[in-house]
Amino acid sequence: MNELSRREFAKLIAAAGVASRFPQIQTTNRVIGIQVGAVSFLDEGIASVLDRFQRDSNINALFVAGFTYGRGIAGRQVPGQPLPDHGKQEYDTEFHGGNYARTHEQYYTHTSLKKIQAPDHPGFDVLAEVLPQAQSRRIKTFCWYEDVFRRDLAGIDRLQEVTLSGKKASTLCFHNSEVQAFWQALTEDYVRSYPIDGVMWGSERQGPFGNAIGAMHGGAGSNPFEVTCFCDFCKQQAKARGIDVERTIEGYRKLATLVRDARGKSRPSDGYFVSFWRLLIQYPEILAWEKLWNDGQHSTYSNIYQLTKSIRREAMVGWHIWHNNSFSPFYRAAQDYADFRKYSDFLKVVMYNNCGGPRLASYVNSVSQTIFEDFPAEEVLGLTCKTLNYQETNLAELPSKGLSANYVERETRRAIAGLSTDGQAPIQIWPGIDIDIPTRRDEKKTEPQDVREAVRAALGAGADGVILSRKYSEMRLGNLRAVGEALRA
Ligand SMILES: [Zn+2]
Repeated sequence: MNELSRREFAKLIAAAGVASRFPQIQTTNRVIGIQVGAVSFLDEGIASVLDRFQRDSNINALFVAGFTYGRGIAGRQVPGQPLPDHGKQEYDTEFHGGNYARTHEQYYTHTSLKKIQAPDHPGFDVLAEVLPQAQSRRIKTFCWYEDVFRRDLAGIDRLQEVTLSGKKASTLCFHNSEVQAFWQALTEDYVRSYPIDGVMWGSERQGPFGNAIGAMHGGAGSNPFEVTCFCDFCKQQAKARGIDVERTIEGYRKLATLVRDARGKSRPSDGYFVSFWRLLIQYPEILAWEKLWNDGQHSTYSNIYQLTKSIRREAMVGWHIWHNNSFSPFYRAAQDYADFRKYSDFLKVVMYNNCGGPRLASYVNSVSQTIFEDFPAEEVLGLTCKTLNYQETNLAELPSKGLSANYVERETRRAIAGLSTDGQAPIQIWPGIDIDIPTRRDEKKTEPQDVREAVRAALGAGADGVILSRKYSEMRLGNLRAVGEALRA
């Protein structure tokens, strides 16, 4: 939203007499947000959780996990990880996921995926329960939902992506109209049914090119023959764009074979990088299909934005930008901040510096077994850090040291610069700060000093706020208190 339209909205809101009910976030008033799921309110009580947030961390915005089938933002601590010093001291091994607010069926007529009510906490509508208490404390409430599914849901098979080898994937295809209808239904349900201050949606996924070359943290385990999407909807879209489907599939099969050979240390005579680049020249369809996939994801952003604004102009709409933006230059290139200006009020750019260490190392170890197989992993780290403009440590220490607060500062500045017109970012930047995101035993753990430094780095670089991530149920209290300490300092 640019400044002019922001002023127009303010006038509209004042005219409608709802200014006090939905106060706009002032640019002078930083958003200190926290991601929190239903289980924490049930385990610890809504009032006492909100008391703690306000007292210890100056929290003024909740990002309540509304919909997910993943454990990253809902449920208690991941089993096997140490339980934090609050909440029920047991794991929720029966975790299922779904919609943690009430599902209002009338909105789901254009999608066969509609039985999404989370069975985890029967009768507890997290938005209905939390909103009144948050409002009375002048804490804003955002509904936070993400693109994570499970395979055993009624009606989901019609929405699933199809892999290069022709199998159904667990992910949903953005070019399938029922998938767009599903996200529209869920968004409409949230924005019409609850007086929320806004929505945040996240999709931690990339297209077939990035997945084929293992360009992500955890990428070493990816199967280049099972990248997506090659369903009939995507093929139709491709034809409309003049992309040759058969040539695309042939190109991706050759790319997958090259990746498999690289992992098997079977070096082509011209080396890995030249062979890889030659494929891109011979099959420009590879990148055309990657763009097709990206466009589907971005049309989802745009559709959610347009629908929300059509229902309630003052509701803020923003996006969780996947951490891979901090590791893979290929993924980063597809996240054009200037483009996001068209359909965003805010961006939560993930800048998790603690778990960022092991994750960057994981990315480097993955691509140094595929397209950069000719380089030692340490040199791939150097190349990556220079490409991304980081000053970080060596590969041996990276997993245990994490990334620095300087990384948070640089990424905040880059986001603001990328969004800016005339030196001013027209939308708000609320970097995601990680507190106790699980890492392996020998890897970096969050300490209060890390939190103080990361919060100061983000705000010092000009961020309009921060979002503490990824969920309260895994955060230790000393680290939460460090947020308040950083803000008071
Ligand atoms: Zn598809």
